[in-house]
Amino acid sequence: MPRDQDAHVRVGIGYDSHRFLQGRPLKLGGVSIPSEVGLDGHSDADAICHALTDAILGAAGLGDIGEMFPDSDPANKGRDSIEMLAGAMARISSAGYNVNQVDVCIIAEMPRLTPHREKIRARLAATLGIDSASVSVKGKSNEGMGWIGRKEGLACIAVATLKPIR
Ligand SMILES: [Zn+2]
Repeated sequence: MPRDQDAHVRVGIGYDSHRFLQGRPLKLGGVSIPSEVGLDGHSDADAICHALTDAILGAAGLGDIGEMFPDSDPANKGRDSIEMLAGAMARISSAGYNVNQVDVCIIAEMPRLTPHREKIRARLAATLGIDSASVSVKGKSNEGMGWIGRKEGLACIAVATLKPIR
């Protein structure tokens, strides 16, 4: 159970990035997005789910996604990252926490996220056990600068707040 001094909201941050790869399916926030390029990675390379998983584990002080789902484990190859997020949820829940609210920022020159935003919010909300209104998903370009600007890949930053289960 959370200690007395944890009886308030806890905050966690997560960051993830993946390289674009021609011919891979693109999945973000558990939603398949039509695109000529997908993301390279051991699992399905869903950067939103990975950043969020780290934010949630971080808020609870329970390590990170790499410890929980090592690349060296063949079971994680091609894995649906919504399962990883659900795994992190189970872990924080046994530690006595619920997710309160999350905020996600994708930094990418492509694809456009707006048409898929509501679907992503709904999928994440269902996995996190909260209302869509408590799941914010935003997209930002990098103004053409650096590796993101050259469309080599995308990055995601996520923040999550947790509250003790009463
Ligand atoms: Zn990742």
